[in-house]
Amino acid sequence: PGSYVVKMVKICCIGAGYVGGPTMAVIALKCPSIEVAVVDISVPRINAWNSDQLPIYEPGLEEVVKQCRGKNLFFSTDVEKHVREANIVFVSVNTPTKTQGLGAGKAADLTYWESAARMIADVSKSDKIVVEKSTVPVKTAEAIEKILMHNSRGINFQILSNPEFLAEGTAINDLFKPDRVLIGGRETPEGMKAIKALKDVYAHWVPEDRILCTNLWSAEVSKLAANAFLAQRISSVNAMSALCEATGADVSQVSHAIGFDSRIGPKFLNASVGFGGSCFQKDILNLVYICECNGLPEVANYWKQVIKVNDYQKTRFVNRVVSSMFNTVSGKKIAILGFAFKKDTGDTRETPAIDVCKGLMGDKARLSIYDPQVPQEHIQRDLQMNKFDWDHPIHLQPTSPSTINQVIVASDAYEATKDSHGVCILTEWDEFKNLDYQKIYNNMQKPAFVFDGRNILDVEKLRKIGFIVYSIGKPLDK
Ligand code: NAD
Repeated sequence: PGSYVVKMVKICCIGAGYVGGPTMAVIALKCPSIEVAVVDISVPRINAWNSDQLPIYEPGLEEVVKQCRGKNLFFSTDVEKHVREANIVFVSVNTPTKTQGLGAGKAADLTYWESAARMIADVSKSDKIVVEKSTVPVKTAEAIEKILMHNSRGINFQILSNPEFLAEGTAINDLFKPDRVLIGGRETPEGMKAIKALKDVYAHWVPEDRILCTNLWSAEVSKLAANAFLAQRISSVNAMSALCEATGADVSQVSHAIGFDSRIGPKFLNASVGFGGSCFQKDILNLVYICECNGLPEVANYWKQVIKVNDYQKTRFVNRVVSSMFNTVSGKKIAILGFAFKKDTGDTRETPAIDVCKGLMGDKARLSIYDPQVPQEHIQRDLQMNKFDWDHPIHLQPTSPSTINQVIVASDAYEATKDSHGVCILTEWDEFKNLDYQKIYNNMQKPAFVFDGRNILDVEKLRKIGFIVYSIGKPLDK
């Protein structure tokens, strides 16, 4: 026992996604003596990692990958070989919300995790540290331990929880300079040795006082708590934005004023059309489910409200667009600038743009969508997707094939806005701040509307040009 604590570290990461790919690339860069293999069952994804067209867009990622790929960083579909050879196995597979059965619409679907764990147990011939990198419900480590131990044939597995806190769009910077690295493990001599082994990897570049070690359950809960707190902050400021609109207050002034309080702080207080991304909603739902299962309905309801306010914010935005445009958008062309859930990523998972576009399509608008990083196929795929209602877990009807004809994907912002009645800014891409809005105005139907769902534009400047402008949480045009 304990032979997993070895001098020569070989790492394998199962799951070459938004987390596995960048995280392992940075470990490889910062630890030249460690061989890192990132494996995935998806052949196209691995092919893309091995090509000049990486499967995800993330500023700075390409440079890091190019420096290490083929030296100490490898991308492969030979999952079993690399798992067998590694002494530290990260598991960074997807953990989406369950869509069917017990806990549907809330609980995490751990199918991918379980099959990865069973495979690790099947192929391993030497002791290993197995690291939870995916975000999982608290107590998942206990389940994983059971699966591994009952299939281990005498091999010693130590489970660690090492949740990832990177944010898409700033992943490389976040990984280079993490606020903290969190490692949870068993409080046994073997567990402590495993924690030390993983700590030694991060210590190549992360200052020691930023590496926090806890028990397994604290680490698992901390990840859910961090995402819940972040999303709650967005819903809090968005809830205030509705009150600001109703009263003539300006949410930016309010954020500025409250952010001066050092207990509140100025960051993450921008009002917007709502949060998106694959994590916030999923992880809060997961938290809600865990609270319900632990007999804590009041706590569950408290966190549920964060998602309800987020949904309300998207609905409010759609209603504002329609009501401003004389209560109908039927047949009107509306330009959608930005489809990704935030800037500097091409990721559209749970993007508020999906709900806003579907809402406008429901009122028969014609949409012309432009995003600098989201491919056309992804926009079309997303707008045909079913929406899952987690309070009433039944699938709603998919968008009918004809409604997709209501959408065209434009190749730039000027093409998207030409002849449109209104422009909706749904992602805060920097390029949208610097467009020639006079030119856009000249080529639009009149009156020309701008609905800034990210509060990135200069409202006064736009009003001077002639636009009727709606910004979240700001005084309205008379
Ligand atoms: P992703 O869907 O981009 O990547 C997961 C990958 O795992 C996919 O490529 C899939 O093919 C692969 N996979 C699934 N089962 C497999 C198996 N049995 N063997 C090999 N490969 C397998 O997901 P992601 O965004 O990287 O997220 C992964 C986890 O990290 C999730 O739990 C998520 O909640 C968490 N997380 C995500 C972020 C983020 O910003 N995306 C941040 C922090 C944490």
